[in-house]
Amino acid sequence: MSVISPKAPDAIRSRLLVLLNGQGAALYGGERVTQLEHALQSAALAEASGEQPAMILASLLHDLGHFFEAEFEQAMSSTLDARHEHMGSRYLSRWLGAEVTEPIRLHVEAKRYLCAVQPAYLKTLSDASIHSLSIQGGPMSAEEIAIFESCPFSSEAVRLRQYDDQAKIIGMTTPDLAHFLSLIR
Ligand code: FE
Repeated sequence: MSVISPKAPDAIRSRLLVLLNGQGAALYGGERVTQLEHALQSAALAEASGEQPAMILASLLHDLGHFFEAEFEQAMSSTLDARHEHMGSRYLSRWLGAEVTEPIRLHVEAKRYLCAVQPAYLKTLSDASIHSLSIQGGPMSAEEIAIFESCPFSSEAVRLRQYDDQAKIIGMTTPDLAHFLSLIR
């Protein structure tokens, strides 16, 4: 399998390992899995679907921006959108390319998109996702749909979103963090 090869891969891997093992132990806001479990499950689902390393890493790291939010564990009572997708993609863009950071940046828009084009999708969302949708702008308008579809990496963002939505399974067995971080070398 191909890998992602930025400069200083060892330093990046150890930085991400510390972040995900440390902050990742907290509960994923409003869900019953931890942030690390959610990240590993997202990446495992991407890998099982035959995705390339960039998408597996994007899935692993898509919610990194939540680590920079003060009170994400209380997400269900929040009425502010901290725009974690932008924080995470900006942070990672120091090291990783658009094939990783753009699906991350667009994964919230992908939820708003799917709610607009597949009304049944809304019914599959968890309570926490429905709550955040309301502060993220709700389903897209026709104009927003056209803009989103014209974005490079919008289809990757939609796929990432689908792994993200499924990755809330209590007790799911996944490969460990080292397995996925070894895609950076
Ligand atoms: Fe997520």
